[in-house]
Amino acid sequence: MQTYKAPLNDMKFILRDFINSESNSLLKNSDIDLSDLEMILEEASKLCEEKLLPLNQSGDEEGCKYENGNVNTPKGFKEIYREFVDNGWQGLTVNKKYGGQELPYFMNMFLDEMISSSNMSFGLYPGLTSNAIDAIEKSASDEIKDLYLPKLASGEWSGTMNLTEPHCGTDLGLTKTIANPQNDGSYKLSGTKIFITCGEHDMSKNIIHLVLAKTPNCPKGIKGISLFVVPKIIPKKDGSLGERNNLECGSIEKKMGINASPTCVMHYNEATGWLVGDLHKGMKAMFIMMNGARLMVGVQGLGIAEIAYQSALNYAKERLQGRSLKGSKNLDKDADPILVHPEIRKSLLKIKTLTEGLRGLMLWTGLQVDIAKKEKDKFKKQNADDWVSLMTPILKSFATDVGCEASNLAVQIYGGHGYIKDHGIEQLVRDSRITPIYEGTNGIQALDLVGRKMPLHTGRLLKAFFHLVKEYIEKNSFNYNLKDFMPSLTKSFNRLQQVTAYIASTGLKDPDEASGPASDYLKMFALVATAYVWTRYAEIAFNKLNNDPNGFYLAKINSGKYFMTKILPETGSIMSSILSGAKTYNDFEDSHFDSAFKL
Ligand SMILES: Cc1cc2nc3c(=O)[nH]c(=O)nc-3n(C[C@H](O)[C@H](O)[C@H](O)COP(=O)(O)OP(=O)(O)OC[C@H]3O[C@@H](n4cnc5c(N)ncnc54)[C@H](O)[C@@H]3O)c2cc1C
Repeated sequence: MQTYKAPLNDMKFILRDFINSESNSLLKNSDIDLSDLEMILEEASKLCEEKLLPLNQSGDEEGCKYENGNVNTPKGFKEIYREFVDNGWQGLTVNKKYGGQELPYFMNMFLDEMISSSNMSFGLYPGLTSNAIDAIEKSASDEIKDLYLPKLASGEWSGTMNLTEPHCGTDLGLTKTIANPQNDGSYKLSGTKIFITCGEHDMSKNIIHLVLAKTPNCPKGIKGISLFVVPKIIPKKDGSLGERNNLECGSIEKKMGINASPTCVMHYNEATGWLVGDLHKGMKAMFIMMNGARLMVGVQGLGIAEIAYQSALNYAKERLQGRSLKGSKNLDKDADPILVHPEIRKSLLKIKTLTEGLRGLMLWTGLQVDIAKKEKDKFKKQNADDWVSLMTPILKSFATDVGCEASNLAVQIYGGHGYIKDHGIEQLVRDSRITPIYEGTNGIQALDLVGRKMPLHTGRLLKAFFHLVKEYIEKNSFNYNLKDFMPSLTKSFNRLQQVTAYIASTGLKDPDEASGPASDYLKMFALVATAYVWTRYAEIAFNKLNNDPNGFYLAKINSGKYFMTKILPETGSIMSSILSGAKTYNDFEDSHFDSAFKL
């Protein structure tokens, strides 16, 4: 059975102890405090545990149904969407001016994690809307903002992003959709977009598509792309619904997972749209949306890992098979729970420590989004912005890989009962599998890290991270409490610095030497950043041990020890692999790929 209780203890620990001081200063001039934020988390947990989780398996089995251009969502989805938006969840972090509650961005991360654990398919509907709000707010004219944002923030209308075309996925420069300017300042868009999440459905009154397209005679490739807002139903000036636009959903994909979220083929047949941002600067505007979306997808990975962990743990406590090799633990029963077996314990601890470590890194990054938005001091603002830019590809990629690995480990812990459908564990494998693919594949995230973020501002982003960790190491090297943490943090950090220097120097001579190990490098970076988080957790936890009635802080320390000794050493093998160069694959003869057969 899929088992899920929102990890509120851990979330509150992060809120109060881990990001405490800065979140307090963020809240300084507002009418809410930390206990309000905790209460909101508790309300969100009820919604997710009691309403969304029960629809997760049924939504997967029933899926979305396409009929004559319409898409019907599975039973119960419309009702829960209504409840979700009526209770103001869609506008949680949106500017008050547009009807939102203007809570810190990191609160959306907590909410998204709970939603992704309990019903990832459902989360895509409000998730895409949040990203559309972000892009419109940051790039569109006041007229567009005033017309669309209140309706999107209330959830009355929903949003989508339209990049992909049949021949154009990663390489958006190949976009063929055309936007012809009209005398009244609008555009007529024609073309076909594929794989559009929630492109058509029956939950909201209108669907607002953000579409990438090219204007006639625009510059070639990516430089010619512009972004347009194209509503399904054209709103009148007062926001009421007017004429149906010339666009339709041609079909929905049959796919591996997230079956309760429709993946649509969208046809634009001279559909009316309006420019968002500047002409030919569509990628800039879209990147605003994509960066938010990338963090959101990372949070999906985290959410899936959490439900995989809880389900597997529950099963491991109940499933009786074999005996502990150290002597029976359960003499009144015929066998011991599988939790006694070391292999099972290791798998569970792997998921637990990766998930909890990543949660801190993710929320710390969410906090930096808020600081970058609100901070007046230019230097602090830039620092926060740099952190977000650096961590976005790392978190998107690593957290989604962790989500996939965690759900596979959960299936393994369930054995055959995980492989069959009854318990809903194979669904987690299927649902999570899209996360390393959409919003820019994880391979592309790694190239972004190595090719763009590493050299950006002559290495300013990386230097800031290195400086932070180095300073922490110097300050805490002789901290007795951290004696099981500091040596491994220091060792892995030195490895990361060595590998960074290697990639930066060899990459200058041969770009394939830098792009080749990009994914390995990203993983190594993520492991070191997570180790830094675990060390800080341990530092906090040691100071709380004298008031730890439920053992939360002791568990934190012991979980951290597991991470530092069993997970972090992988940085050693990654380093060896990277330092051995990229020739074995880059110079491998193309004709040798099929040496064992002939295609
Ligand atoms: C369920 C689902 C939902 C989606 N939702 C949306 C949506 O809402 N809106 C939208 O616009 N799109 C959406 N997509 C599309 C998704 O973002 C793309 O599938 C993804 O960007 C990859 O594009 P592609 O599938 O064409 O793969 P390709 O671009 O063909 O890539 C294939 C492989 O080659 C690698 N590759 C490609 N180019 C390079 C390069 N230059 N260097 C190194 N490696 C490279 C990739 O990493 C990948 O492994 C969705 C897709 C799915 C399946």
